[in-house]
Amino acid sequence: MALGKWFRKEPELAGNFPVAKSDEEWRKQLSAEQHRVLREHGTERPFTSPLNMEHRQGMFHCAACGQDVFAAETKFDSGTGWPSFFKPVDGGVETSDDNAFLMRRTEVHCAKCGGHLGHVFEDGPKPTGQRYCINGVSLAFKPTDEGAKAKS
Ligand SMILES: [Zn+2]
Repeated sequence: MALGKWFRKEPELAGNFPVAKSDEEWRKQLSAEQHRVLREHGTERPFTSPLNMEHRQGMFHCAACGQDVFAAETKFDSGTGWPSFFKPVDGGVETSDDNAFLMRRTEVHCAKCGGHLGHVFEDGPKPTGQRYCINGVSLAFKPTDEGAKAKS
């Protein structure tokens, strides 16, 4: 195997996270829509995610790597058509500047795999005033009681 492979320059976000996979591996693991959002910074159509209507207690995980990203008690109905939260799990997500489409936004991604989750805005409810606008397709929800019953 050529040594050069190990020194190949990866795109900015790849390789700097505890979970790093090649695009080919992600494509095998994720649905086409999940891949478009999580790996290509896509946005799902509003009001399409069943998680908009999810009101049970539990934990929202990164759909790509399973990282805990948002607790159900931080979810609120923003009316935007995307699952919205006022606070992430501590250490669950990271943010970066996103200047795409000539808009200045703050992008939110999974701290473990770098998967794109959505954006955060400063017009959220108390106590944080932040609105994490998250693509439901990037999330996997586990209700509390189901989590307790799950076999490991
Ligand atoms: Zn992740």
